[in-house]
Amino acid sequence: MKVIEKVIELDGFLASFRAGKKVIGFVPTMGALHRGHLSLVGKCREECDVVCASIFVNPLQFNDKSDFAHYPRTLESDLEMLENAGCDLVFVPDVNEMYPVQENKSYALGEIENVMEGKYRPGHYQGVARVVDRLFAVVRPARAYFGAKDYQQIMVIKKMIEITGHDTEVEICPTVREHDGLAMSSRNMRLSEAERRSAPAIYMALSALPDIIRSNGIEGAYDWFANYINNVPFLSTEYIQVTASDTLMPAGSAEKGQLLAIFVSVFCGKVRLIDNIFFVL
Ligand code: AMP
Repeated sequence: MKVIEKVIELDGFLASFRAGKKVIGFVPTMGALHRGHLSLVGKCREECDVVCASIFVNPLQFNDKSDFAHYPRTLESDLEMLENAGCDLVFVPDVNEMYPVQENKSYALGEIENVMEGKYRPGHYQGVARVVDRLFAVVRPARAYFGAKDYQQIMVIKKMIEITGHDTEVEICPTVREHDGLAMSSRNMRLSEAERRSAPAIYMALSALPDIIRSNGIEGAYDWFANYINNVPFLSTEYIQVTASDTLMPAGSAEKGQLLAIFVSVFCGKVRLIDNIFFVL
């Protein structure tokens, strides 16, 4: 597995594959890897000729400075995991390599950047669009793999592709969970043992919601969720939103047969965790 820090070197490495019309697959990450990330690498390995991953903790997508400072960084074990997962190439740029010129780019992402994560993390999705735009421009992948845990991010990336015209297919992989249901996340490493014991309640409550919506309606389900979560030690609800499954815009009413999704953000101590499920009402 090749580890590359510079764009120019990356371009050189990929040139022969491009010339040979090989399918380049790409898995962008911020490192602190776990089985969720590796599931994307595995799918990419199955479907592509060349598997390229990247590790870059993107300062532009952190609206909270302390979150950026505390984001786990475990490069050595990340590289070992990627090599074992069959990755061919890892791009590990520094911030100057990613953003060589000072630019105030902005993307017309539409309403998707004003709801849920966009609302609670102002500027986050502009940062995500910017970093993925730049990564796509240098890797030029035929296919890129993303996890459903960050489903709103996928919508943003699809919008960015529409705006920029990158020739890349977005592949969506299911959320990988711990045995107790907790969605795998790099931030889980920051939980204390006691907090970690509380965290599975998030998915437990989320999974119960479709039935609660069926009996109590959407507003009743919001109350139920916040009440349930806020009574678990260390947990507090930041938001819960029921949406249409295709647009991720808020669902006003609930009718049988509707395709819906539920998105939540919950603090576990100081660590912010998100999760979502899709279901038919
Ligand atoms: P991150 O390193 O958090 O930026 O995540 C890199 C990619 O891995 C994104 O596409 C995430 O959606 C995906 N990912 C993170 N956690 C999981 C998970 N538990 N299951 C599946 N994909 C995940």
